[in-house]
Amino acid sequence: AIVVAMAVGTVAEIYGELQRAAGAAKRLIELLEVQSEILDPAQAQSLDTQAQADVIEFTDVSFHYPSRPQQSALSAFNLQISQGETVAIVGPSGAGKSTLFELLQRFYDVSAGSIRLHGVDIRELSLHDIREQMAMVAQHPVLFSADVYHNIAYGKEGATQDEVSAAARQAYADEFIEQLPDGYHSFLGERGVRLSGGQKQRIAIARAILKDPEILLLDEATSALDAQSEHHVQAALTELMKSRTTLIIAHRLSTVMHADRIVVMDKGKVVANGDHASLMQQSPLYRKLCELQFNQPSASV
Ligand code: ATP
Repeated sequence: AIVVAMAVGTVAEIYGELQRAAGAAKRLIELLEVQSEILDPAQAQSLDTQAQADVIEFTDVSFHYPSRPQQSALSAFNLQISQGETVAIVGPSGAGKSTLFELLQRFYDVSAGSIRLHGVDIRELSLHDIREQMAMVAQHPVLFSADVYHNIAYGKEGATQDEVSAAARQAYADEFIEQLPDGYHSFLGERGVRLSGGQKQRIAIARAILKDPEILLLDEATSALDAQSEHHVQAALTELMKSRTTLIIAHRLSTVMHADRIVVMDKGKVVANGDHASLMQQSPLYRKLCELQFNQPSASV
């Protein structure tokens, strides 16, 4: 029975991986298709990160994916985020949370309205300047078929060995890396070492720490990691979020409780905005999300 259970577990695991890979590949192909339409402006404005304006400003943003012209992913979406703020974004599936992150990195252009960074419309900035300001830590981080060292060093052009190991230390990743067969030179990918979900995330966090971006885009894991990995990932994230403007697609109650502000999205719009206590009072959707998404009955929080 044990053998059968193991075999089933493995098949399910592979099936899950395949599905994820297929999803990622589809998204990548779509991105490559639209990528050619997203061009640097003829004369890019320079980005003044000391400017007084809000760090991020979505103004009346509407957007539909090129493949779905009839369906709005965002409509009349407004949000301002100031320097150093931690904003948790919650909402049901399909509300437009991931779309926000894609537009902010200018993988697509808005259909109407504007997105500004430090007061400048991102269409007037170079793609390099936009993406240099941000690091994204995804639920299922993209790791390259390369060794651990290069997967982290990718965060910063010309990073030194000391910088790479310092970032790994801050991300609580150095200990497990050093225990891999070839340490930092262990190869990741299909024929390389297999990392757990939490270890992959810590590599992605180390990469982001090395990049040291002004803005952090975080898509919190929905699936539970094992307790020890969970603890390390949370500690690494706390390190990464220190004194940075952070947007988190939140799936955990502890995250929303620690955020400066919670934005509730539904059908491509902001439907409520505030802290946990006020949203519990004012937003029926937020109460419902607390019960479903965070598995917490509203009475107990
Ligand atoms: P989830 O919590 O399930 O990740 P979400 O809030 O992040 O959902 P989005 O992924 O931003 O929601 O999706 C917003 C809308 O845009 C949905 O209707 C979705 O089906 C659609 N959508 C998302 N990505 C694409 C795409 N690449 N092409 C076409 N439509 C898309």
